[in-house]
Amino acid sequence: MSETPAVTSTETAEAELLAQVPNQLYINGEWVPAAGGRTLTVHDPSTGTVIKTIADASVTDGAAALDAAVAAQESWASTPPRVRGEVLRRTFDLLQERKQDFALLMTLEMGKPLAESLGEVAYGGEFLRWFSEEAVRITGRYGVNPEGTGRMIVSQHPVGPCFLITPWNFPLAMATRKIAPALAAGCTVVIKPAELTPLSTLLLVTLLEEAGLPAGVVNVITTSTSGEVSAPIIADPRLRKLSFTGSTPVGQKLIEQSAKGVLRTSMELGGNAPFVVFDDADLDKAVDGAIAAKFRNIGQACTAANRFIVHESIAEEFAGRVTERVKAFRIGRGTEDGVTIGPLIDDRAVAKADALVQDALGRGATLLTGGSALERDGTFYEPTVITGVKPGSDILREEIFGPVLSITSFTDEDDAVRIANDTEYGLVGYVYTRDLARGQRMIERLQTGMMGLNLGVISNAAAPFGGVKQSGLGREGGFEGIHEYLSTKYTLTPDPFAG
Ligand code: NAD
Repeated sequence: MSETPAVTSTETAEAELLAQVPNQLYINGEWVPAAGGRTLTVHDPSTGTVIKTIADASVTDGAAALDAAVAAQESWASTPPRVRGEVLRRTFDLLQERKQDFALLMTLEMGKPLAESLGEVAYGGEFLRWFSEEAVRITGRYGVNPEGTGRMIVSQHPVGPCFLITPWNFPLAMATRKIAPALAAGCTVVIKPAELTPLSTLLLVTLLEEAGLPAGVVNVITTSTSGEVSAPIIADPRLRKLSFTGSTPVGQKLIEQSAKGVLRTSMELGGNAPFVVFDDADLDKAVDGAIAAKFRNIGQACTAANRFIVHESIAEEFAGRVTERVKAFRIGRGTEDGVTIGPLIDDRAVAKADALVQDALGRGATLLTGGSALERDGTFYEPTVITGVKPGSDILREEIFGPVLSITSFTDEDDAVRIANDTEYGLVGYVYTRDLARGQRMIERLQTGMMGLNLGVISNAAAPFGGVKQSGLGREGGFEGIHEYLSTKYTLTPDPFAG
């Protein structure tokens, strides 16, 4: 296999790419302006400049998008699974041809370094490939009832039109992680990307079109008034499913809205991941894992390690070693060569990271590096390490969503488990130990939907991604992913030998 060439970016290349991104809504297979010609602007967080002006959907546009999804539902559901799968597989192939473009586009709208954007194109693409393969493996069962008087048939059916809402932090992967299983299952969709990073989804639709997607199967609405536009779609009795990835407070609101129509919901919500390092851990590997689990996506990942919980005997050494690594980071625009830390998404994100750091320092934590916003264009926060974080600090309770590594220590295994589970979230946990039995105990004791045992990055399209507690409901990816978009039907027929 040939090596992936480095992505290059020049002003001209950026302008040409941005010009290829549609600036309208995609409804019933057509690119259309928003009702009343409303527009919204998309910014590059590393400079603050406007990079694109696109359609800003209103309630009327949302209704039109749902009409189109409803109209296309029956014919898409009866399209052969192989044909549905092939649309996804061709989209995967087209994405490989355009991976440099998608990586650059994501860096421009979201800020992450190009190498990480390329990683997201690979990760996001895998959902298209995985679910193209799953489309043809939707099966049921047939059996004799226990009384012997009948035959039980269990079959799987698409749930119906779905509304998909995605966040800004993984602009491509969060879209493919929902669109691919929905389409594979035979559902049509309306997707609403985050207003901060809608461009990757718009460009993805051009690939789906090229891959032969029929009109109405995927409809895209971009809007600056998410709540207002989404509520009537969720309230519409023709909608059968809501899949949301975003913050827990918004997810809670959407679950309430979904209750009226008793909608199927999938909720991928916030996290507060513990990263536990035992005194028998391979410290080199734990430090590598810590850097990846914390600073990937500039700390803006639901799976980001939020609380480093390190055995008291090695806490100082661990803190020293991660601090050395953090001091070597290169901060800048994600398009620049060698940059490892880009900007945060906006001013609010910078203010939040800083407030959490200042609160922890005020309560007695020690600052090892960083600790303030950078004085430059864009929304940058210094990569930061704090240690000796005291119980009760806000940073132990809230999602940091920024490049801040916060360390606290523990005395024994029970103490580590108590601290790790002391949160309303339960998305992922990371544990470093060389003791296999202890690792297995931690798998059973940590209240999370996922775990990295001696690894700091675990996401994979073939695995069921999701959380427990207030981190969400349902799973995306893996064998489980397609079932979020299928409903089970049981049929009883008479014993065919009974005459
Ligand atoms: P957010 O909740 O602010 O927004 C997510 C999406 O919901 C966006 O598209 C936004 O426009 C939309 N939205 C906001 N208010 C809405 C409303 N009232 N009605 C309908 N839609 C509404 O989250 P964010 O800041 O975009 O993303 C960061 C959050 O997402 C973090 O909490 C992170 O942990 C979480 N996240 C979770 C996962 C996961 O798989 N568990 C993955 C990525 C991000």
